[in-house]
Amino acid sequence: MDEFDLIARYFDWPARRPEVALAVGDDAAVIDPPADARLVVTTDMLVAGRHFPLDTSPEAVAHKALAVNLSDLAAMGAEPLGFTLSLGLPETDADWLSRFSSALRRVAERWGCDLVGGDTVGSSVLTLSVTAFGTLPAGKIIARGGARPGDRLAVTGCIGDAALGLMVVQDPAAVPEALGAAARDYLRGRLDRPEPRLAAGRALLGSASAGLDCSDGLLQDVGHLLDASGLGAEIDLSAVPLSPAARDWLDARPEDIDRLITGGDDYELIVALPEGTEVDPELGLTMIGRLVEGPVGGIRERHGRVLPTRRGYTHFPGEE
Ligand code: ADP
Ligand code: MG
Repeated sequence: MDEFDLIARYFDWPARRPEVALAVGDDAAVIDPPADARLVVTTDMLVAGRHFPLDTSPEAVAHKALAVNLSDLAAMGAEPLGFTLSLGLPETDADWLSRFSSALRRVAERWGCDLVGGDTVGSSVLTLSVTAFGTLPAGKIIARGGARPGDRLAVTGCIGDAALGLMVVQDPAAVPEALGAAARDYLRGRLDRPEPRLAAGRALLGSASAGLDCSDGLLQDVGHLLDASGLGAEIDLSAVPLSPAARDWLDARPEDIDRLITGGDDYELIVALPEGTEVDPELGLTMIGRLVEGPVGGIRERHGRVLPTRRGYTHFPGEE
């Protein structure tokens, strides 16, 4: 199978969105963005063994590659439109490709965004780079800067599941014995198949004063919002939303709270909301603290302890 057969067989299906005038198969894709919409572009690369465990299923790899990009669009309040996929493949394994491509098509349809092109090369390590495009109504945005003192800090969903899911994979001996198979599967699923919070991002556009998605650990990502907004924060750690599986885990190993709030791969949204903002309970937001004048970038626990914001996932540890 040469590269052109491979693309035709696994990555060429009809686009569904009317904005996509030309998708896979030509030298470039052509998109007609809606009149007076702003184009929002993001890219994220995944390397096997670094961004997902080597035993991750092709379905989960497809899901995660698209989800992490759409999570960035969700964080901006944008609506997804299309994406490109660049693939570095160690081999052309028909079974892997067919499972990967079916799963990719399924999630792309679910999230309303078309595959419009890409590149396919040989590589010693499985590598995927997705660039996603979305739109924002003119004049509207959720950015990292813009929060005000007194705004409340809120997160969607539950924090820390993916960090525990990674422990299930990497350090099974450290998993509390009380945790049953269903809880382990749930945590692994949260690592493999994050859900981009697209509906929440769209709904918060116009009310959130700032926001971002949580991909490198809660404390580190809150730190990014604080740096960009020139503020500090006070957080109530006991308010950080945890899943039943994470609660059971902490009952057995309370010291792992640290991993929950510094581990990566949550893909939940962190937003600042002006006092008095009404939020739809359907969005699943939990208030975890508030923004304060300073020190800039500093996070204090409600009871006074200073929390480290520079801990979380980093690709180049030790390089300052
Ligand atoms: P070119 O050499 O003109 O850049 P390619 O041979 O790399 O074109 O790709 C041919 C077509 O297939 C292009 O439309 C490209 O966007 C698309 N394509 C290549 N790889 C992928 C992929 N992994 N997923 C989706 N589309 C792809
Ligand atoms: Mg060309």
